[in-house]
Amino acid sequence: MYSPSNERYSVIPYRRCGASGLKLPVISLGFWHNFGSVDRYENCREIARAAFDHGITHFDLANNYGPVPGSAEQTMGRLLKDDFGVWRDELVISTKAGYHMWEGPYGDFGSRKYLMASCDQSLKRMGLDYVDIFYHHRPDPETPLEESMLALDAIVRSGKALYVGISNYPAPEAARAIAMLRDMKTPFIIHQMRCNMLDRNHERQGLFDLLEREKVGGIAFSPLAQGILTDRYLNGIPNDSRVARGGYLKAAQLTDEVLDKARRLNEFAQKHGRSLAQLALLWVLKRPGMTSALIGASRTSQLLEAVEGIGKGDLETEAWNEVEKMIS
Ligand code: NDP
Repeated sequence: MYSPSNERYSVIPYRRCGASGLKLPVISLGFWHNFGSVDRYENCREIARAAFDHGITHFDLANNYGPVPGSAEQTMGRLLKDDFGVWRDELVISTKAGYHMWEGPYGDFGSRKYLMASCDQSLKRMGLDYVDIFYHHRPDPETPLEESMLALDAIVRSGKALYVGISNYPAPEAARAIAMLRDMKTPFIIHQMRCNMLDRNHERQGLFDLLEREKVGGIAFSPLAQGILTDRYLNGIPNDSRVARGGYLKAAQLTDEVLDKARRLNEFAQKHGRSLAQLALLWVLKRPGMTSALIGASRTSQLLEAVEGIGKGDLETEAWNEVEKMIS
């Protein structure tokens, strides 16, 4: 029987998610890649156990994670049965709906019909009565925003989620969503966005200022730019990497310009006693209002590298100024 480390709450810090009562670990673990039915269950299990053993209490999913879509939630269900069921109250499990999940007009985007049905399906796949956070995964340009937000509100009031969040909403849409959710007194606490040293779009467009002003937590996905901000691709494309295995990251994204930047950041990180991945995570966690960096991992050692980096503490302001020059 799995027995988690007794030291698990003294490894990494927890940050309050916006103005809510919920705290999240500064590193969270995502199930987008590496936890599907095509992946080896024992590896998933080892990564998930290592995460929890090091205080990573937050596992992030979505209806369509796999491959095949839905299978990452099934893996989570199996993990709960095998190892984590008794620890449910120490875990924050999130899921989402908003991208294509099933055929026909009711399996995509943001209708009440889709969001409510998808939430029920996710709970079934994971064998859960409720998720901790249910997200609308992306804005829907056709469905009235009010309908999607009312669906989030209904999901929380029916007890199927404790909190709700939005993801991939640009600042203007996020501002409208926040106002509606506030009006309804929905326990809305979090926005999930792409943010890393190579992608600062949301930062430039004022999303972080908005979240800080509104006291909404931020959680950054792909903080390592899917592996570009690690040593993974500095000397070619390894056979077992996300790019080589046909994941979401494509070889075309590994341009000379991007790799040059990664190499320079890597040298800088090493000069400061960090790996590139560790530097990238520290940077993300310094964004205003950021609660957690949501990483992926194909093996336990990657997760441990992230955790170890947090333990090394922050860099001096001068060093961050240099980083700023390198990435702007
Ligand atoms: P990351 O940027 O952390 O990339 C993770 C990948 O980078 C790993 O799978 C691994 O790839 C590589 N890697 C990680 N650590 C190291 C290391 N120390 N050394 C070398 N390589 C390393 O995040 P993801 O893109 O995986 O996204 C994380 C989570 O964010 C997802 O699982 C999901 O929960 C969420 N997400 C949400 C989205 C949304 O729309 N809301 C969109 C995308 C993600 P490799 O396989 O090559 O080893």
